[in-house]
Amino acid sequence: MAPKMQAAVVEQFGKPLSILELDVPSPGAGQILVKTEACGVCHTDLHAAHGDWPVKPTLPFIPGHEAIGLVAAVGSGATIVKEGDRVGVPWLYSACGHCEYCLRGWETVCAQAQFGGYTVNGGFAEYIIADPNYVAHVPAGLTAVGAAPLVCAGITTYKGIKQTEARSGEWIAISGAGGLGHLAIQYAKAMGLLVCAIDIDDGKLAHATRLGADFVINAKTGDPAAAVKKATGGGAHGVLITAPSLIAFKQGVGMTRKLGTCVLVGLPPGEFPVPLFDLVANCITIRGSFVGTRQDMAEALALAVGGKVKADIELQPLSSINQIFDRLEHGDVPSRVVLDFAPAKTKNQRSEVGQHFATAGAGSARDL
Ligand code: NAD
Ligand code: ZN
Ligand code: ZN
Repeated sequence: MAPKMQAAVVEQFGKPLSILELDVPSPGAGQILVKTEACGVCHTDLHAAHGDWPVKPTLPFIPGHEAIGLVAAVGSGATIVKEGDRVGVPWLYSACGHCEYCLRGWETVCAQAQFGGYTVNGGFAEYIIADPNYVAHVPAGLTAVGAAPLVCAGITTYKGIKQTEARSGEWIAISGAGGLGHLAIQYAKAMGLLVCAIDIDDGKLAHATRLGADFVINAKTGDPAAAVKKATGGGAHGVLITAPSLIAFKQGVGMTRKLGTCVLVGLPPGEFPVPLFDLVANCITIRGSFVGTRQDMAEALALAVGGKVKADIELQPLSSINQIFDRLEHGDVPSRVVLDFAPAKTKNQRSEVGQHFATAGAGSARDL
């Protein structure tokens, strides 16, 4: 009989995930099998399970794109990694390697790209098939649970900050201080920026201050764009919008300084209005940014090894996935939940932040 594994499966959009026992997949030529140690739960997994975006995953599918694990088997011809290596299986699961974008080092926008936990099965399972050419190589200084949020939330914010082109000593406004945002604050500080963090939850803003934010604003009280302009003397040189809320996008453009760049990474479904005159007359750039390349991954992980960036994690078992999704939807996850596939360690370990939030009131991510 084929060996079995537990997996959390989306069978219908908008319905709870099913925990199923499935056959462990076998790696084909050029593939590897990874035994999952940990997998972060990103808000993108929630969008995927809800079928929020124009291009939907094919049902049924296993979400999860912040997976860390050990290479358990290597298919024929796969030479980049060997059994026992610790790798990350990220959102950018594979790309063609040959198109104009791949050749320019922009494999993230390759038309042939596959996405972990979306177009191919992801890390909410005890085993994952991966493409060894696109896995993250987890440096020795990082634990599996600590590295998990870095392979999506970390790389996405690190790359997004670079895309703002804000320079050391300048201001960056980071809208949304959750899974992505709490890492963005740390990367921005490590890159020498002054940070203004914006959220709708005072608990998350208090944590943003603990993480080094120079100024925090609750977007529910007053006009956050005016508050950022006042605090920064004219607007932030760079703005990074991680909030999964459309109103945050218009506000983010309004926070941007003349000649500045507003980078969009949050992905709530829908569209948002752009004030054309302000944009044109102030020479403001609005730029989308999608995870990061393998080079961005290596850089983002290296900064974490140096100790400048550390994910705040709450460990939970795979069986809790539906409660975790519910909390994520209601803005009730302090920073990042990581599914821990080593059950002995999962004794409801909550980070200090988790304890803080257990008592603090949490706002709804869809309130505004
Ligand atoms: P999260 O739920 O952990 O954090 C979102 C945070 O935004 C929360 O702290 C919430 O309180 C805050 N928020 C909600 N409404 C707000 C508002 N109006 N103003 C300010 N803050 C507000 O989610 P996450 O895992 O950090 O993901 C955030 C978004 O980024 C999702 O839409 C996700 O799909 C997207 N994402 C994009 C990429 C990419 O490559 N572009 C990668 C990963 C995630
Ligand atoms: Zn993600
Ligand atoms: Zn390509």
